[in-house]
Amino acid sequence: MPGSAVATQPAAPSQPSMLLQALSGVLPDAAVLWSAEDTAPYECDGLVAHRQIPLAVVLPETIEQVGEILRICHRLGVPVVPRGAGTSLSGGAKPVANGLVLSMARFKRILNIDPRARTATVQPGVRNLAVSEAAAGHGLYYAPDPSSQIACTIGGNIGENAGGVHCLKYGLTLHNVLCVRGLTLRGEPVKFGALAPDAPGLDLLPLVIGSEGMLAVVTEVTLRLVPKPQLAQVIMASFDDVEAGGNAVAEVIAAGIIPAGLEMMDQAATIAVEQYVHAGYDLEAAAILLCESDGTPEEVAEEIERMTRVLRRCGATRIQVSASEEERLRFWSGRKNAFPAAGRISPDYYCMDGTIPRKHIGTLLRRIQQMEARYGLRCINVFHAGDGNMHPLILFNGAEAREWHRAEQFGTDILEACVELGGTVTGEHGVGVEKLDVMCTQFAAPERAMFFRVKAAFDPDRLLNPDKAIPTLARCAEYGRQRVSGGLLPHPDLPRY
Ligand SMILES: Cc1cc2nc3c(=O)[nH]c(=O)nc-3n(C[C@H](O)[C@H](O)[C@H](O)COP(=O)(O)OP(=O)(O)OC[C@H]3O[C@@H](n4cnc5c(N)ncnc54)[C@H](O)[C@@H]3O)c2cc1C
Repeated sequence: MPGSAVATQPAAPSQPSMLLQALSGVLPDAAVLWSAEDTAPYECDGLVAHRQIPLAVVLPETIEQVGEILRICHRLGVPVVPRGAGTSLSGGAKPVANGLVLSMARFKRILNIDPRARTATVQPGVRNLAVSEAAAGHGLYYAPDPSSQIACTIGGNIGENAGGVHCLKYGLTLHNVLCVRGLTLRGEPVKFGALAPDAPGLDLLPLVIGSEGMLAVVTEVTLRLVPKPQLAQVIMASFDDVEAGGNAVAEVIAAGIIPAGLEMMDQAATIAVEQYVHAGYDLEAAAILLCESDGTPEEVAEEIERMTRVLRRCGATRIQVSASEEERLRFWSGRKNAFPAAGRISPDYYCMDGTIPRKHIGTLLRRIQQMEARYGLRCINVFHAGDGNMHPLILFNGAEAREWHRAEQFGTDILEACVELGGTVTGEHGVGVEKLDVMCTQFAAPERAMFFRVKAAFDPDRLLNPDKAIPTLARCAEYGRQRVSGGLLPHPDLPRY
């Protein structure tokens, strides 16, 4: 990924001393980082092109401390950016100038596993994979499995409504969370959702999940656990044409099958991955599909047979079914290591995250090939095909500023193509700072105004992770990509560029 393309800004001179003095009254010295050396590791998240040194970083350990920190920031008007593991790929955890980074990394206790209710109650800094590891003894696991699951936290998963390979069948984070507790920017406790199947009042749980740390600081989460299937097997299907592979994805779902995972990689991706993890992929194929089935042995046998029939009908040139658990995990290890594999073959890569209706996968892949020629940059494709969630990885050299700008424009073109094909600008990585401009393409001014009103209902002072996810009217006017609703251009008085 690119180097520092956005300059960091100095902190305002008067605010730091007041803030640090107030914080030292509620936190031990070691929990407040303020020297440039200590705050530098927090200057960005996984979107390393966008950096900002924060005023200070705090590492509280108790909910009372979090409440005190928030009340101090509210009183002094200091912006706060909540942070989990900092693996977000959209800049959601990027610090704000003159603001505080509120690291929730020390909230890493699993509070309760209830095998009868099939729930886990955890603190927000618990790693995604740690939940499944803790539940394994009960024959249970937490289904949403982002490829970053060894590092990313449940708080960050809530922030981004994270997805993963198994979310096609088992749902995204949103579908696997029962209850969220948190604090508003004013330090007031809030609770969304319930342990019972339904709760009175407006259902604000879906609003908080995917809200990118802009509505409340998550302090406790109750997750739904699912039983580990008796058996899982994966088909690796080869295609000699990417479009045929893309069309096969739509056909599998249209046949009434919901695979436990349905992922696609093009040849450039399989070659990169194979050199890295030796997953056993068919390197002759223009694209491969990985289609997983799980359940009882009988269910799996029947589903594998049905999927094989559909895949052959759609032109699969080779079908290989994992013959052991070891082979199944090997097939998946390639897919799960695709991003680091891209990092081995290029100085930098830029991961996009658009979503399109499945039937258009082939069309978009062809268009990306044309964009590669136009921008003179390579792009490898590895994605959650069953969800239509595309992850084109644009390869470039971040040491060349012009190349980074070409990569950025290439990425924008892909996301705009996603919207044009009836999709969205993000599937699971969030908007953050990265996709603010293309949000102007997707949403019209009245919709964006509504987003701001929701934000204001939770955080009227606009101090909690401000300037993320929702573009202002002025920004959209400058970008020149206002979505025109009903033929009426909003605010025609504003100058267009
Ligand atoms: C190699 C790699 C692979 C990836 N693969 C996937 C994938 O398959 N699927 C996927 O969905 N994502 C993936 N991601 C993106 C990233 O891992 C996810 O978005 C993840 O959910 C972020 O978790 P985090 O703990 O790192 O959160 P952070 O990056 O720290 O924060 C993410 C957002 O959540 C907010 N936040 C964090 N904690 C809290 C809290 N306690 N309260 C309120 N807000 C909070 C932050 O303000 C920010 O807006 C990948 C990233 C990498 C680097």
